[in-house]
Amino acid sequence: MNKKDLLRRLPKIDEVMKQESLLLLANDTSALLVTDAVRDVISDMRGQILALEDDAGADSFDISLLEPGRIAEMAAARFEENEQMNLYPVINATGTILHTNLGRAPLCRDALDNVMKVSEGYSTLEYNVEKGRRGSRHDLVGDLIAELTGAEDAMVVNNNAAATMIVLATLGKGKEIVVSRGELVEIGGAFRIPDIMRQSGAFLQEVGTSNKTKPSDYENAIMSKEKLTELESRGREAALMDDPRGTRRFETGALMKVHRSNFDVLGFTEEATLEELVEIGHRHGLPVIFDMGNGLMLDMSEFGLNEPNVPASLATGIDVILFSGDKLLGGPQAGIIAGKREYIEAMKKHPLARALRVDKMTFAALEATLAKYKDRSMALRDIPVLSMISASEDEMKDRAERLADEIRKAAGSDGIYTETVKVLDQIGGGSAPMVRLPGWAVAVGLEGRSADSIERRLRKVEVPVIARINEDRLLLCVRTIAENELDTVAAAFRGR
Ligand SMILES: *Cc1c(COP(=O)(O)O)cnc(C)c1O
Repeated sequence: MNKKDLLRRLPKIDEVMKQESLLLLANDTSALLVTDAVRDVISDMRGQILALEDDAGADSFDISLLEPGRIAEMAAARFEENEQMNLYPVINATGTILHTNLGRAPLCRDALDNVMKVSEGYSTLEYNVEKGRRGSRHDLVGDLIAELTGAEDAMVVNNNAAATMIVLATLGKGKEIVVSRGELVEIGGAFRIPDIMRQSGAFLQEVGTSNKTKPSDYENAIMSKEKLTELESRGREAALMDDPRGTRRFETGALMKVHRSNFDVLGFTEEATLEELVEIGHRHGLPVIFDMGNGLMLDMSEFGLNEPNVPASLATGIDVILFSGDKLLGGPQAGIIAGKREYIEAMKKHPLARALRVDKMTFAALEATLAKYKDRSMALRDIPVLSMISASEDEMKDRAERLADEIRKAAGSDGIYTETVKVLDQIGGGSAPMVRLPGWAVAVGLEGRSADSIERRLRKVEVPVIARINEDRLLLCVRTIAENELDTVAAAFRGR
């Protein structure tokens, strides 16, 4: 057999499309796309034949590959490959709970079901069924958030960065916002408090130092309307002179505290508490804003998490709190603004509200997640982020042992080594950076393979397993692996 014979044996597209399996596939999906896949496979085959060295090469070519049935099989596989989404599931075996690169908080079952239910058809997104007329999406979770946190009202925007933007634009445009120099943080990417302040049209009034900011620093920085009018009445020079840099001053709009979500300061430090800011702010008729970030709704100190929580923060009397939906709250990406009604109302009316508003899928997931918080034990059990934080060491040790067994079964016991080991897990997602949660992992070694090569291999399976490497050992941390994912993790070692 020579190359020409092989080329002649290549089936026609039509002939391959007549194969039963492809007829079904084309019918269920798209005849156009299945035909494209067949064309691509035939063209690849032609390329392979043409690349053969000579007739000797042609002789050893496996001609069964050219049968219409085989081509159809390859085309079906190609079709599946082309259908692969760019956003698809992976298994998080890093032990980092809020892994920003892996989509932060996984959603609870009821949130997922609710997204399906609400998004499949039409919904009450902006319709009041009782009254038979237009409603507002802002009213969907306001009452629930109020009930759970003690806020008067709430509003939901795209994320906490958007929340910061609209809060500052509403309360601070053309005014000064007083913030401690120890809290001018960068959260990640291009999100820096001073930059977002500039974007919102508010003027940052920095007070204190990197390590120490006292209540009196805030108080001394407040520029009241009266003082400003008095300064300006003494002429331009006086108005400028009040600031050591000779820059123009504006009336103070609010006092703001930013939670040090992703770093810690140690040593000779001091900061003003929310209570102290509330006392000063309210004495001067100014709102106090708290950019809290993580959205923790419960006291989780018994699990080693000493972070502020939303209800306790609001109980200090602050006027506005803002936090993410997909950090420790454990819901979808969102920015939640809660607090005093007059301020929330003003934000709902701001032109940015429309630009930053969220979709029905977000509301569906958020409402179902928030509903879990009506009962602390239900929240701890059902919200994945919280159950991962509160998982007991015994439970994780047991899961690690079962995973190790499964892996040995899947991989065959030769040349494989597994050991269950203690690890320290993290919250992640720029939250509680100093917290280390004692957990368990399976360390896996394969004879003749480096940890790096196993790690790479685990990323190449159908549902990639993202593992951790520590001191040249591959670790599968079970805190972030769900019960129903254990089989999939083990299967990744099959045929290693
Ligand atoms: C995470 C965080 C943000 C940004 O929140 P996103 O929801 O990621 O936009 C803002 N402020 C603080 C204090 C944060 O911790």
